[in-house]
Amino acid sequence: MSNTIKKNIDIVIIGAGPAGSSAAIELAKAGKKVAIIDKNLNSPTKFTGNTVSNTLLYLSYLYNRLKTKTSYFINFCTENPPESAFDLKKMRKYIENVSNKIFKAYKDDLSEYNVELIEGLVSFNSEQSILIQYSNKTVEEVSFEKAIIATGSLPKTPPFATGKKFLDPLNIINLEKIPNTVTVIGGGFIGVEYATVFKRIGCQVTIIESRDRILYTFDDFIVKKCEEFLKKDGVNIIKGKTVTNIEKIGNKTLIFLDNEQIQSDEVFIAVGRIPNINHLHLDAANVQIENNLPLLNKNLSSCCNRNIYFIGDAAGKFMFLNWAYLSADIVSSDILGKNHDENLFVFPKVLYIDPEIATVGLTEQEAIEQKYNIQTIKYSFADLEMSIITGHSKGFIKVIIEKNTKKVLGAHIIGKGANELLPIFSLIIKLNLEIDNISRHIFSYPTFVEALVDISNKIKS
Ligand SMILES: Cc1cc2nc3c(=O)[nH]c(=O)nc-3n(C[C@H](O)[C@H](O)[C@H](O)COP(=O)(O)OP(=O)(O)OC[C@H]3O[C@@H](n4cnc5c(N)ncnc54)[C@H](O)[C@@H]3O)c2cc1C
Repeated sequence: MSNTIKKNIDIVIIGAGPAGSSAAIELAKAGKKVAIIDKNLNSPTKFTGNTVSNTLLYLSYLYNRLKTKTSYFINFCTENPPESAFDLKKMRKYIENVSNKIFKAYKDDLSEYNVELIEGLVSFNSEQSILIQYSNKTVEEVSFEKAIIATGSLPKTPPFATGKKFLDPLNIINLEKIPNTVTVIGGGFIGVEYATVFKRIGCQVTIIESRDRILYTFDDFIVKKCEEFLKKDGVNIIKGKTVTNIEKIGNKTLIFLDNEQIQSDEVFIAVGRIPNINHLHLDAANVQIENNLPLLNKNLSSCCNRNIYFIGDAAGKFMFLNWAYLSADIVSSDILGKNHDENLFVFPKVLYIDPEIATVGLTEQEAIEQKYNIQTIKYSFADLEMSIITGHSKGFIKVIIEKNTKKVLGAHIIGKGANELLPIFSLIIKLNLEIDNISRHIFSYPTFVEALVDISNKIKS
């Protein structure tokens, strides 16, 4: 190992995911000298959880539609419809292509703005310097004025899973055969998305959630409907029970709950995520960590070392792509001495499950806790033409409204087309519009967005 002092770099960014790349571009555009260092920068295929899950959700959706919906109008040219099977090898190839294209787009953007790209594993050496370990094992010391940590997150490993191999959001692409039964431990958004993928490709699925409901941060009504739809599709949901142990016996896995046990071919673990920061030697940089979370100021800099910032999943606040971009914006504004408008904080989320869930703004519970005087409107997709045409008529929209001003505080949608409606609701909330302004807009026909006209009429009446 050889240590050499390299030139000073104004700003080093550790991690070239969406958060790091976005901050790098903002700062480079403003004329700063920026280097972004990532341990996987030159890997031919670099998978991220959301690329794998969203591609899998899309492929499994197409497969499931083909199997369950096309016989309404296609006569297959054989006496019996040909046996179809979800091909795991082709799936892997498709995901590789998608990942490579997305990764190349990031790298092209960074190069365009003259961000220096370095492949290496970073750890801190002092309050103002890092060590970069290159693939040939040489180590270089780099001093910085500001460092931004954008190293993402890692799945939490429950004690019973330590040292054992189970399915997770990334290794799923190495599956060699489709399991008959899969148990998903954890009913958060990752667990429910993957349960949907397994169900669509033909597995029998059980979700185990220790709380009394799945998707606990989502609106009650939407979650109730989601549970109903999952159960109708044959997904078994066990709630309010904790997994205490898992044992592998031959090809089977036994899962021990409080007072029962279930058997499954495969187990998928999704019990939460933590910032991926423990390997960075942050103590050398005088950065304080408590319960795996960095202690941060409002501008996302470390409380003890104001020259070191955390963005994206690594900040441990939210773990969504829109937060990756927002946090990158907060930090680059701070470094560039610009104000950041906190009112822009609208946080849309979408889950491509069956049917889609999309949500933005306050849930009913949150609005009540914040002492708003509210009115809620519920709308069913059953009579919407676009829903009927596409055969997706199960679904609802719930809108939370401030009673006196008629301003929208939150919108929660379950149903095909939720992703089409979400940006409109996000804009309504962000721009503080009355929904009436939107309903007078002429929408193209047929679309899911036309539901807004009916919702607006309901509000007026
Ligand atoms: C299964 C799954 C599904 C998801 N689906 C969605 C979704 O549908 N919508 C959504 O908004 N969000 C989704 N997310 C969340 C989203 O993926 C993350 O919020 C986002 O990727 C965070 O971006 P980031 O830049 O903070 O971290 P990452 O994208 O994780 O990037 C971190 C980078 O840091 C590098 N790195 C780490 N340590 C070091 C080191 N010491 N030295 C050098 N480099 C290092 C890594 O190689 C990596 O490239 C999903 C997440 C998962 C796991």
